[in-house]
Amino acid sequence: MNIQTGIEPILREIEAREGEIVALTQDLIRFPTINPPGEAYRPCAEFFGARLARRGMKVEYVRAEGAPGDSDKYPRINVIARHEGSRPGPCVHFNGHLDVVQTGAGWTVDPFGGLVRDGKVYGRGACDMKGGIAAAVVAVEALIDSGIELPGAIEISGTVDEESGGYGGVAYLAERGWFSKPRVDHVIIPEPLNVDRVCIGHRGVWWAEIETLGRQAHGSMPFLGDSAIRHMSAVLEKFEHQLYPALAARHSDMPVVPAGARQSTMNINSIHGGEAEHFEGLPSPCVADSCRIVIDRRFLIEEDLASVQGEMRSLLDQLAGERSGFRYRMRDLFSVQPSMADRNGPVATATAKAVRRILGREAEIVCSPGTYDQKHVDRIGRLKECIAYGPGVLDLAHQPDEWVGIQDMVDSAKVMAVATMDLLTRG
Ligand SMILES: [Zn+2]
Repeated sequence: MNIQTGIEPILREIEAREGEIVALTQDLIRFPTINPPGEAYRPCAEFFGARLARRGMKVEYVRAEGAPGDSDKYPRINVIARHEGSRPGPCVHFNGHLDVVQTGAGWTVDPFGGLVRDGKVYGRGACDMKGGIAAAVVAVEALIDSGIELPGAIEISGTVDEESGGYGGVAYLAERGWFSKPRVDHVIIPEPLNVDRVCIGHRGVWWAEIETLGRQAHGSMPFLGDSAIRHMSAVLEKFEHQLYPALAARHSDMPVVPAGARQSTMNINSIHGGEAEHFEGLPSPCVADSCRIVIDRRFLIEEDLASVQGEMRSLLDQLAGERSGFRYRMRDLFSVQPSMADRNGPVATATAKAVRRILGREAEIVCSPGTYDQKHVDRIGRLKECIAYGPGVLDLAHQPDEWVGIQDMVDSAKVMAVATMDLLTRG
């Protein structure tokens, strides 16, 4: 079959398989793959692998032995399936994470029931990102079933632990060559960035704990001690008057959505000082000798981690010069480098072109405010040709009553099929 004329029947076939996309999304939602701790990873991976093996794909399971959280009770099982084309050529890889976050409060439907109502499938992970995975699977199956002679290879992986950093999932596989050339050339991650957006990357992250130190004394004579909480309030004042305005003034070429995230940002995740919480009785009168905050600093591709850390340290050192008795400790907790694919590269342009063809409107090229597994494909796999594209609505991720639109899944499956054909058959 000719590739140019071959695409129309495949698109009709994907449309005819709407029910299959819905059923697969429901099936995946019904595995409560909550992370942490990593529930139901094995049965979900085996279900996923068995489905793709039925299409003649070569299926391999890789357990991330020794990864954080990996145990016999909660094994970190990843599954990778590969379809070999009729002759040599590039490889397009679809990667989705099978884990979901905890349900939390506020649900009005069963989070693991897979309810279908008003053109939507509901459940934890429907949007982020089992609906996207189902769309990719049906797109690839329709391509294989068409019998069209495609060069190269198509891969689909279902990986774990994305929600906790991806170390037992994509990072583990990337370290072992699963996300590098020559095995893979283009990676599409069907994360929920909206059906008409092509996401080319994400900002960086730096988490740190900052502690101010004081000296304990009787609370009726605070002048005999030195309050770590007052020192911390001076830190927070500096943030308000110096750091936050500086971050807001920093502009980026990264097209981050929503627009509020198109600058450097910092959240204070927690603050704690003085006596331990969770004690029900009366407190005792003490001047706090320690106060701690955990910060979540998101940075741009124009910044680097060392300068972000240095900026914080110099702000604290400045306070040490200004305030008598000011002492602090700063401890790194976690960091991720920003990642951004070339918006004019093959995977971004092929997907944007496919969006235009299927949806009849221009694709928006965006970056994600938070990180996802692209970081590992980029930094460990050394593959820049990686984007996120999927049907879910970004804002619904991790929320109660999370859902994915059925029409969006069908449309995105078509986009994925067209983009795959394009990438495999480009000269
Ligand atoms: Zn996700």
